[in-house]
Order: sequence, then C-alpha cells, then structure tokens
Amino acid sequence: MKVCKFGGSSMASSDTIKKVAEIIRSDEARKYIVVSAPGKRFPKDIKITDSLLNCYQESKKGKSVNELFKPIRERFTEIAVGLGVEKKLDLESIFQAIEEGIASSSSPDFAAAQGERLSAMLLASYLDYNFVDAKEIVRFSDNGVFNAEYTNDLAQKLLGARESGVVIPGFYGSTSSGRIVTFSRGGSDVSGAIVARAVKAELYENWTDVNGFLTADPRIVDHPKQIPELSYRELRELSYMGANVLHPESIFPVRKANIPINIKNTFEPSNPGTMILPGVLSHERLITGIAGKRGFVSILIEKSMMNNEIGFTRKLLSVLENLNMSFEHLPSGIDTMTLILADSEIGNKMQELVGGIREAVSPDRLEIQSDLALIATVGHGMAYKPGTASRLFTALSRVGVNIKMIDQGSSELNIIVAVKGDDYEKAINAIYEEFIN
Ligand code: ADP
Ligand code: ASP
Ligand code: MG
Repeated sequence: MKVCKFGGSSMASSDTIKKVAEIIRSDEARKYIVVSAPGKRFPKDIKITDSLLNCYQESKKGKSVNELFKPIRERFTEIAVGLGVEKKLDLESIFQAIEEGIASSSSPDFAAAQGERLSAMLLASYLDYNFVDAKEIVRFSDNGVFNAEYTNDLAQKLLGARESGVVIPGFYGSTSSGRIVTFSRGGSDVSGAIVARAVKAELYENWTDVNGFLTADPRIVDHPKQIPELSYRELRELSYMGANVLHPESIFPVRKANIPINIKNTFEPSNPGTMILPGVLSHERLITGIAGKRGFVSILIEKSMMNNEIGFTRKLLSVLENLNMSFEHLPSGIDTMTLILADSEIGNKMQELVGGIREAVSPDRLEIQSDLALIATVGHGMAYKPGTASRLFTALSRVGVNIKMIDQGSSELNIIVAVKGDDYEKAINAIYEEFIN
C-alpha cells in the first residue's frame, strides 16, 4: 500500500485535482492521500496558505474577517463547483465556522491550517474516500513541539483499520487540548511521511510539479538534470540546504521505517521521478546535487592564544544559548573562530549578540559580514575521489567568485562554501557546469 502526498500546485484548481484523482484511481495501492492547500495556478497567483495568513494578520488589526475571507471562499467554491461536489458538502457552514475560528484565535496556526483542511474535504468528497482530520492523528505538545512517537501510535490506531481510502490534510495537527498547530512552511511533506510510517507503507509518493529531485534549483540553473536515485543522507543535506522540493524534516518518519520516497510529477505521471532510498547508493557518481540558501551573517572572532584558552568555545556558544539562537557553522583557525548564523535566527538581536560575545570572550577583533549565501555540493562519491574540493574552488575562481568560508565535514558527503549574496547564482551555475553538465 502506498501513501501519496499531493502538493499545492497539484491541488491548485479543479482541473489539476481531476488529474490527481486520475493518478489515485490508476493504482489500487494508493489508499492514503495527504494533501496541501491549493497553491499557485500561475506565477503571480497567491497560495491559499498565504491568503489565510494575511486574513489572520489583517483581522488582528481590526479589519473584517468576512471581507478578508471572501477571495478564499470564492476560490474554494470555484473548485467545488468545478469538481461537482458543491452539493455534497455544506460549504456555507464550513466557511462560517472558519471565519469564527479565525476571529477568535490568538495565533496564526488555525487560519493557516484551513487551506489543507478544505482541500482534503473536497478531494475526499470527489473520490468518495473518507476524510480524516489531521488534528486527530498528528500531535504537538502544549509548547508546539511535534510529538513523533505519540503521533505514530495515534495515527496507527486511527488509520490502521480502514478498508477504503482516506484523505488527510497535511501541514497541521493539534495539542491534546485541541489547539491547532502547524509545521513550518512546506510541512505537508512531513505529514505525508508521518502517515507513511504509521500505516507501514511500501512507498511514500510525493507528487509535485517537477520531474523529481533535480541536480540544482530549476529557478537558478536552466533545465538542471534529474536525479534518478538519492540516499536518505543526501536528501537530508540537500533539502536542509535549500532544495525545498521536499521539507527537510520529512525524512525522519520514513527513515525510522526504511520506507522509500518517490518524488513524482503530477503533470507528467509517466516520468519515473526520483527514488530516495536508505543506504549509500553509489560511489561512482561524484556529485549528486547542489543546493543553497541566502540570508546568512558571519561573525569573525579573533583573539591571540584562543587555542590555549580552555572553555573558549563553550563561553562563546553559551551566548547563543542564552539568546535561544542556533548557529549553522563554526569554522575555526588557531586564533580565530567564525560563527555563521541565519538572519532569521538573529532577528533584531544583533546588538545583544555582539555585546554578549564581547563580554563572554573579550575578543581582540570582531568583524561582521552580512548578506552571505551558503552553497552545499553533495555526493557520497567525493569521499573516494581526490581533488573534488580543488575542482570546486577552481570553478568558482574561474568566474571570479570569492569564497568566504569552507566547511567539509569528516563524513565527506558535502562541501559547503559561503559566498557573497550577489555571487550566489553565479556560483551555483559554475559548480553545476563543473560537476554535472
Ligand atoms: P509542492 O507545492 O508540490 O509541495 P514545492 O513548491 O514545495 O511543491 O516544491 C517544488 C518546487 O521546488 C519546484 O517547482 C522547484 O521550483 C523547487 N526546487 C528547488 N530546488 C529544487 C530541486 N533541487 N529539485 C526540484 N525542485 C526544486
Ligand atoms: N500549504 C503549506 C505551505 O504553503 C504547507 C505545504 O504546502 O506543504 O507552506
Ligand atoms: Mg512543498
């Protein structure tokens, strides 16, 4: 039996949902379906999740929920009519309850979750599958942390005994007191993985709008090659480092049960897509893929005899701990250490951070550089092939890109470099040309 997750572009309109239904009906094993909220139908379109978040935020500034919800109501009604299910569901009272829920909630999560919920109701109704609400099977603690084992037990009990097909909304769950909590953006991929683990699926199919995992972001590299197979570890590296075709946390539930993931294209179902499998697949392939993200800051800390100062790193990192910040990388020299952090972690606390570092470790010099991008070049093969790093650096220097930081873990699964934000796309293209094209 297979679990299928369909993303926002697959659920964007009644026409695309009909394609989804065709895919589901073409294979009897496709019994558990997890869906996203309707996404973009064309590049400038607005995702339902963004409309819902906007609805919540503006309503808190005093605007009428009823007015703000109108375009969302219209889009779902249009989909329902397009599918011919508008009479099977009491949409009016469903919409009404959502508006009331948004008006009375004090966090954006309830609003954000409604796109997935409605999307799942419509598809269930069109397919004649059962609708199972994610709030019954995905559990978060009161402080919003996902509870994996409790969820797995709950989901097993609730889903295990079902004979006919079910449709489950992705992206959210609830606390034991029933408060709705969402994952981070793109989180329906995680929901699909949770369901796959709970029902012990033979395969987790993740249906999207591209032919699987590509060797680089198609918005940066022109027609990047497809990756036929990927290991769990390569997936984790690439998705964490910005290849957002799959949410970086979707690997954890399936890894526990060794379930393969197949990324497929709803708009080209005959394409085999990408298979993601446990274990190392091949050392022949030097580089599997390239991913990256922007929005990082480096803080260089220099102090003579740093290497002899027992507890230096602990003191430095305790500053981060006190500010509840996590860091990305910490490359070090003899008398220097560089903290690389995401802008989103620092928020508006840069002054506090720098003040804290000065107080904790009294550096001789502290230098901040903002607008950095990180790029990961990933592949199991590089551990077995000398010269990979040198080829990468040469490729970057050829196009005049200055490397601000280098980090290669001892697993030799990836090489991460930091470059100036302005050089980001140029650098990815240069690495792509060197290793993949
Ligand atoms: P869905 O709505 O189906 O969840 P997403 O928008 O979350 O789809 O993910 C698919 C998109 O991810 C693609 O359209 C593509 O633009 C982007 N993307 C970024 N990096 C990659 C990559 N390495 N391979 C494939 N797609 C990628
Ligand atoms: N709808 C949510 C988002 O836009 C979750 C998802 O699509 O996976 O982030
Ligand atoms: Mg997605």
